[in-house]
Amino acid sequence: MASPLQLEFVQSADRVSALPSTRAEVAFVGRSNVGKSSLINAMANHRQLAHVSKAPGRTRLLNLFELRTGGTLMDLPGYGYAKAPPKQRAGWQQMIEGYLLERENLVMVAVLVDGEVGPTKLDAQMLGWLRAHVIPHTVVATKHDKVKSSARIKRKRELAQKCDLEPGDVVWVSASKGTNIAHLRGLVLTWLA
Ligand code: GDP
Repeated sequence: MASPLQLEFVQSADRVSALPSTRAEVAFVGRSNVGKSSLINAMANHRQLAHVSKAPGRTRLLNLFELRTGGTLMDLPGYGYAKAPPKQRAGWQQMIEGYLLERENLVMVAVLVDGEVGPTKLDAQMLGWLRAHVIPHTVVATKHDKVKSSARIKRKRELAQKCDLEPGDVVWVSASKGTNIAHLRGLVLTWLA
């Protein structure tokens, strides 16, 4: 079992060219409220860590963390924030897409999908876009505890199908209950190795 990821906040940036180079990087992306901060905190076993990314002025930036064991983790801004004006939304999208296309040594993108709600239209767009650009990615379904145990098998099949994947391709996690957190830590370490 992988022990907690030892993450340290490095810096925020509004474009990829402002980031320090890295040997290997894993990025976490998903719509706002999908449970990204909770998941990063759970992997690090640190309650406040990813809230750094939620500090005023940082929620719309690329937030970079370093692992003590080597490699970096990128906390990308949540997409689909409904209250933002369209022009601002377009700017964030450009920043996220620019990062995903230009970041050197980006080894994996963890695409978070809400396990209770299932993939939204924006999630499907993001997956289609990553596929079109042949960017390696893994779907992580969050909030496993919110799906009733009697409904889980069916839900797993449906969620995978909507993502054009097999059920075994999706990593189901619960930050609240700790479900599969150790497994995901192990994957992150493998991707960064
Ligand atoms: P972010 O906007 O993607 O960073 O999402 P947050 O981590 O802030 O989580 C959004 C909401 O979902 C919060 O109310 C969390 O408490 C809740 N949440 C996150 N992960 C889980 C989970 O695994 N289980 C449950 N039940 N709630 C969760």
